[in-house]
Amino acid sequence: MSVNSRKDVVILGAGLAGLSAGHALSKAGRHVALIEAGSTVGGMSRTVVGDGYRFDLGGHRFFTTDKRIEEYVKKLMGSEMLTVPRKSTILLRGKYFDYPLKPLNAIFGLGGITTAKILLDYGLQRLKNWPAGKARAVSLEDRVVRDFGRALFNLYFKEYSEKVWGVGCDRISADWVAQRIRGLSLGVAVKNALFKVCGKDLPTLADHFLYPSLGIGRIAERLLEGTGERGTLHADTRVTRVYHSDGRIERVEAHNHKGPVVTEGDEFVSSIPLNTLVGMLVPEAPWEVRDAAARLRYRDLVVVAIPVDRETATDQSWIYFPEKSVPFGRLHEPKNWSPLMAGEGKTVLVAEYFCFRGDDVWKARDEEIVETTIVHLEKLGFVDRKTAEGGQVVRVPRAYPLFEVGYIEHVTRIFEYLNGFSNLHAIGRSGMFRYFNMDHAIESGLDAARDVLGKTPVPGEATPPAVA
Ligand SMILES: Cc1cc2nc3c(=O)[nH]c(=O)nc-3n(C[C@H](O)[C@H](O)[C@H](O)COP(=O)(O)OP(=O)(O)OC[C@H]3O[C@@H](n4cnc5c(N)ncnc54)[C@H](O)[C@@H]3O)c2cc1C
Repeated sequence: MSVNSRKDVVILGAGLAGLSAGHALSKAGRHVALIEAGSTVGGMSRTVVGDGYRFDLGGHRFFTTDKRIEEYVKKLMGSEMLTVPRKSTILLRGKYFDYPLKPLNAIFGLGGITTAKILLDYGLQRLKNWPAGKARAVSLEDRVVRDFGRALFNLYFKEYSEKVWGVGCDRISADWVAQRIRGLSLGVAVKNALFKVCGKDLPTLADHFLYPSLGIGRIAERLLEGTGERGTLHADTRVTRVYHSDGRIERVEAHNHKGPVVTEGDEFVSSIPLNTLVGMLVPEAPWEVRDAAARLRYRDLVVVAIPVDRETATDQSWIYFPEKSVPFGRLHEPKNWSPLMAGEGKTVLVAEYFCFRGDDVWKARDEEIVETTIVHLEKLGFVDRKTAEGGQVVRVPRAYPLFEVGYIEHVTRIFEYLNGFSNLHAIGRSGMFRYFNMDHAIESGLDAARDVLGKTPVPGEATPPAVA
């Protein structure tokens, strides 16, 4: 077994959360080891380079309401960052609608009867909520029906949510909805339409976003470059055990192609999936903590990129497909995000299949998935088979934490235990089991760095330096 040199901070996982922590800590003078199972950095926010094209694992726009994080990323990326207009549609009952729904577009597209039914249902639901206030919602279904009425739930939320999550809307936690669909209420949509007429905008429905000209993976690459000599990346190295004693993490054991390797450190920052971390602890966590970890599930993703011999195939950022007749849930065309994502006269379409590991699509041969994707892209009118040939498939395990009813109790139980370790910092989307976008993942890494710096000040430094 080989042993790495001891580090001030050992970081598990080099996605955006781990890299942000590493970047901030190394800039503040700490020596960090980043241990990453993948062969490149970036985790879910990486860009795959194909033959003459590039694509993200599902289009990744950078958008944040936190000015501090926005400035941090803009400074990091400099002139690489483009400002890109967002234009998305959703296929409902065979017609494309703006996404998020815009009232006029919805009214004309859905027809008078459906629109009247939605508005009537919405009005009745508001009356029902009025005397006693809104009833407590447990599931996504409760929450959306309570707030928008059943007609809109059936039309707009049910199918897509069930496609994304793979479980019924009555099993998805309402707590998750609270974070997620704030910007989709009819009220906000109406206000947005009115303000747009007046030339103003509402922050919840951003219609522009930031994007690096060579793909989202550049943010991770820049963060790694910025860690400099004080940061050591161990790629293709999977952590398998986390040893602890007396309320402190002491070392981690990982495996790479040469065999096991041990890394010791003073502080440990983990962005690997929360339940994986619990399962790696030696001595093992108490039974109820392992049981809570075993109950947390993730949704997996198969991403399929189809190169096409055309300048562009759509004019959209994303297109959403709730209907079961289309096997993938979402499509994006990277060239609409940055012209550098494919060569001249070429483009690439990227389809996302939401699934669980073990589902047919996960197990299917790559050629079969590529063929199915081309067949459906042709049916939808985006490609002509003569211009689309071959493709690339990437399987993304644990793409989405699955927020099933009751998940908060399990997560709380796990953190009650993990918080007992004085030198362990859990960060990131899978690491904290939170619905984090990139800005939140970065923020969690910077927060962990600040915690570490606060605990171990450099002699002569009165307060920990600001990291962002
Ligand atoms: C399809 C899709 C679309 C998205 N679109 C957007 C978007 O438009 N805008 C946005 O802001 N966000 C988007 N996100 C969310 C964004 O991808 C995440 O918030 C962000 O990448 C999370 O970063 P992280 O570092 O927390 O986690 P991760 O990226 O998951 O990083 C964790 C790292 O840990 C590594 N790891 C795991 N286990 C081990 C182990 N045992 N040993 C060593 N390393 C290990 C992994 O390989 C990975 O690199 C999207 C996510 C998905 C899935």
